[in-house]
Amino acid sequence: MFQTGYWTLARYRGIPIRLHWSIPLGALFFGRFEIVPGFWLGFVGLVLIHELGHAFLARRRRLAVFEVNVHGLGGECVHRRGSPYDDAIVAWGGVLAQLLVLYVPTRLLIELGVVTVESAFVAQLVSALLWTNLWLVAINLLPIPPLDGAKAWQLPKLWWERRKRRTHGHRAPTPVGKPTPVGKPTRKPAPVRDDDDHDDDHDDDHDDDHDDEDPAEVARRLAREALESARKRLH
Ligand SMILES: [Zn+2]
Repeated sequence: MFQTGYWTLARYRGIPIRLHWSIPLGALFFGRFEIVPGFWLGFVGLVLIHELGHAFLARRRRLAVFEVNVHGLGGECVHRRGSPYDDAIVAWGGVLAQLLVLYVPTRLLIELGVVTVESAFVAQLVSALLWTNLWLVAINLLPIPPLDGAKAWQLPKLWWERRKRRTHGHRAPTPVGKPTPVGKPTRKPAPVRDDDDHDDDHDDDHDDDHDDEDPAEVARRLAREALESARKRLH
């Protein structure tokens, strides 16, 4: 969104986490131009956690993350494009992080009486972490590009297709040509790759046990094992 005007807050594994000078304006706008410092803090925290959630899942899918930016209009996690399946998973990262990291603990602290909302600052902060949080989740999940929901709700379909492909032990033909556009800008060209998940076939330096096995063979073996154990359970 913005190319310049950032301050690098921190670096995680070489990924710069940056804040843009327009954040105060965004916080002021979303706080309806009232003087609500607790809300401002909560709001910026929400956006940051949301983008870090995308970054976390992008890394889990082994997509390089280049930047995590927070600015007055929201934020962005700039990462290498993956398959549509990867991108759908990464799209869930933002809202899940918001709910898991902020909504659940805040609710718990209140229920347990650890946090009492007596001071105005805490009340504003809690209101941001609970209610603004839920609103942002709801808006982000609308299935309209460039909102996360546009890709996130594709996940069940893509998962099912991928599963079918694997069970049938063959791969879909490699799509050629322009990749589908994504909501978040990526600065480096997406590597040419097939539409399928890449866990089993290449660029692996991780936890996969069957690197050199044919994916079709792996699928057949897993199916055989599942059948075998189901049969055992029946007897
Ligand atoms: Zn997002």
